[in-house]
Amino acid sequence: MVEKILVVEDEVSLRETLAYNLERQGYEVEAVGDGTVALEAARRIQPDLIVLDIMLPGLDGFDVTRILRKEMNLPILMLTAKDEEIDRVLGLELGADDYMTKPFSMREFLARVKAVLRRVRLIREEADTQAPPVADMLEFGDLEIDQSRHEVRLKDEALALKPKEYDLLLFFARHRGQVLSRSLILERVWGWDFSGGTRTVDVHVRWLRSKIEPDSSNPVRIVTVRGAGYRFEG
Ligand code: CA
Repeated sequence: MVEKILVVEDEVSLRETLAYNLERQGYEVEAVGDGTVALEAARRIQPDLIVLDIMLPGLDGFDVTRILRKEMNLPILMLTAKDEEIDRVLGLELGADDYMTKPFSMREFLARVKAVLRRVRLIREEADTQAPPVADMLEFGDLEIDQSRHEVRLKDEALALKPKEYDLLLFFARHRGQVLSRSLILERVWGWDFSGGTRTVDVHVRWLRSKIEPDSSNPVRIVTVRGAGYRFEG
């Protein structure tokens, strides 16, 4: 089945470049340059993914996201132009599945698109083929988080995690595949009143890695995204 992608970008040359390259990858693409038109197009074609610029004429990317999230379960890859926007993207409760900051390379863009679609496909397949999972249990290969018992197991062995390490891992697990900034992590895991600074996050990530990574000097579960934060790969 050909996957459909809706590209929403008001810069004509970028829009055409994105659409052209996605089509060459075999996706079915519709490209529009306005937030209001994007809503209409999304409802009509029910795309598998929307690539959504934030600064748009008509409704902006945040408005479009808010409205679409109420209507359909649609993966969103947001395009941001400014650092200030990133905090808002990450702060959205029902926010983007991923985001990219301009300028980006076409190769990186296509890789992200593929990754988001793959993730969505796996989630769907899992939902289709498996019995409903026990809600309290999160599994990532040989790593299991048992929320009802507040226990983390690696290769069936219970790990001794400090409470904050557990909270941090759970936060990562619930946002698998998303880039999470240090300040967002700090806010959500430690809370607003915490004064320790974002170094606290780095320290706890290091501790967690030493417990859950096969090789903590080459982490594969919690990866560092340079200049942005961390991403939990599972
Ligand atoms: Ca724009």
